[in-house]
Amino acid sequence: MDREKKDMGKQQEEMRRHVSQERKKKYFRKRLVTTLGLLLVITGVGVTAAVVASNKKKDKEKQDGTIETIADPAVNETNGKEKQDSQVSKPQEPELPSWESVLQESDLLAAGYDYDGAVEKVKSYAGYESIGELTAAIEDYEARKAECVPVNINEIPHVFYHTLVVDPTKAFANQETDPQAVGNNQWMTTIDEFNKITQTMYDAGYVLVDLKDIAEETVDENGETHYAEGTILLPPGKKAFVLSLDDLSYYHSYDGYGYASKMVLDENGKPKCEYIQEDGTTVVGDYDAVPLLDKFIEEHPDASYKGAKGTIALTGYNGVLGYRTDITYQTVPDDINADKKKWLEEHPDFDLETERAKAKEVADAMKANGWKFASHTWGHMKVGEASMERIQADTMKWKENVEPIVGETDVIIFAHGQDLAGWPEGYVAGNEKFEYLKSNGFNYYCNVDSAQYNVQIRDNYVRMGRRNLDGYRIYYNAIGEENNLSDLFNASDIIDPQRPPVPRLH
Ligand SMILES: [Zn+2]
Repeated sequence: MDREKKDMGKQQEEMRRHVSQERKKKYFRKRLVTTLGLLLVITGVGVTAAVVASNKKKDKEKQDGTIETIADPAVNETNGKEKQDSQVSKPQEPELPSWESVLQESDLLAAGYDYDGAVEKVKSYAGYESIGELTAAIEDYEARKAECVPVNINEIPHVFYHTLVVDPTKAFANQETDPQAVGNNQWMTTIDEFNKITQTMYDAGYVLVDLKDIAEETVDENGETHYAEGTILLPPGKKAFVLSLDDLSYYHSYDGYGYASKMVLDENGKPKCEYIQEDGTTVVGDYDAVPLLDKFIEEHPDASYKGAKGTIALTGYNGVLGYRTDITYQTVPDDINADKKKWLEEHPDFDLETERAKAKEVADAMKANGWKFASHTWGHMKVGEASMERIQADTMKWKENVEPIVGETDVIIFAHGQDLAGWPEGYVAGNEKFEYLKSNGFNYYCNVDSAQYNVQIRDNYVRMGRRNLDGYRIYYNAIGEENNLSDLFNASDIIDPQRPPVPRLH
């Protein structure tokens, strides 16, 4: 963990140094021109050459000195005369940040395309006007913002994954005899595939945006919310995409198939995964999409628009995030599933409130890192086929068992790819199921349609189609029988060599 943290710090440091060197070059070039102009006026051309030369040398010295100070905080401590109050060398005084640390924060905001936030950050530093590096930074952020162009909201793809496969040899074994191994092969993506996709899409200019960035919400005088197309500004050549993760519950049925077992917090309070190894011992690390993407975005802050992460669609029947938070684990009704019963027998010290408190702690840390939560229905139900009564009962269960842990959400991501209406007609007056869900606070609706993109922003709701980046799609694209991923990546470069042929759906 410590090494990881150090590597990350080093990378950020390098990025910052690069940015500030570029900016300093510009700044000192500008100063040199000003000096030259002044000298020309005052002393005339004859004596200028010599003075300019010495000025240039002085500037050069100052430039080198400053860079050194920023690049290596240790230098500060040994010979630093000017910057003894630097936060870089004295982190125990956070109430008085140095201008360098303010600049570091604003550069990070600008890397994530939040140029206004970056400018505001710089201006929050009292006396920024008299520090050349800070005024140069503001100029730089404003120039970069001016270059940005609006993203076409109607052409934003929304991709999703399930829990990632840590150990393909376990997940994909016995394809001929085990229907669940076939399911793992069809619906799941391996960590290796996920990492390759993330890097490939980043290299192609894809930037992760939040589902809610696609819409602009306004509240009228009656307190009613209205939706219109949002505005996302990105540098030319960059492309936006939305991400969601389904079923991050670590269902009992995943046990023994080479998946992580739960989300946990590491010693630094960061969301990580627990993984149970072959010999029964547990390890904590980057064993699923949440910590993998958190790490990727820490290392590549320009991979995410204003710190956006994904939206996590949760059911409730087996609890959430690997915690057995559903009321049925305590009430143990007669018709309880065999796997829940078995789990309870193996965990005699189970306590619902403790389990819920732990889950909430992890969910809070995930939210603080930019992750959002959505309903996936409590029982992973087929909303298209289900009766109104079942949808109502299910919604209540979600609100009682999941909402207290992850907080209120107005996003619902339907299970089994079902939906309440087709495209492009959408949800119209008289659609009973939509009206019920809307009255229960849901404004954002997502299905699975595997279209390149499908965005529908109406006055009273926002709807987005999604694409499964799973074994099925990757395999059939890799062998050339489907072509619906090539705008994102080349599936044959991505496919895990440990993935067996994927059986067709019947
Ligand atoms: Zn699902």
